[in-house]
Amino acid sequence: MHSEELVFGSSDNLEVLSILRLEDQLIVSVQSRSKGCPCPACLVFSSKLHSYYLRKLKDLPAFDNKVSLRLRAKKWRCFNAECPRRIFAERFQHFFKPYKRTTDRLREKLLNTALLLGGRPAERLCRTLNVSVSSSSLIRIIQQQSVFAPSFVDAIGIDDSRIQERY
Ligand SMILES: [Zn+2]
Repeated sequence: MHSEELVFGSSDNLEVLSILRLEDQLIVSVQSRSKGCPCPACLVFSSKLHSYYLRKLKDLPAFDNKVSLRLRAKKWRCFNAECPRRIFAERFQHFFKPYKRTTDRLREKLLNTALLLGGRPAERLCRTLNVSVSSSSLIRIIQQQSVFAPSFVDAIGIDDSRIQERY
């Protein structure tokens, strides 16, 4: 089994460069295999590499160790003359969201744990599972979830009917 399959479940888009163990932490260095990326502003595909940059993300614990990912991400140039963006960071369909410091799969587990237990009990449970997270961060993860408004009204209150009578 390739290390990509072990870490990500497939070896299609991400390449594991190295895995180091430091005390109670595994440091997994990865980079994408993408040959280009659509610009987030104009959606025109670019394959002109500008540079690399390093992102550090927490991931789910493994083998009783904390896991930290070192993602070597790419920046691409946008050559669309009508686009305001000249350079943009690589976007990932899975695992990594822009500006986030945790992987999608860790954030999902933290959200479920926080919803089940609440902030402080979830923080204590996470500590026993080798995930360092504060209760305030767990509450923030809950608050960042989008809430969808109902698309139709199935009940009208008294105040609503008075408003309708006036018009
Ligand atoms: Zn663009």
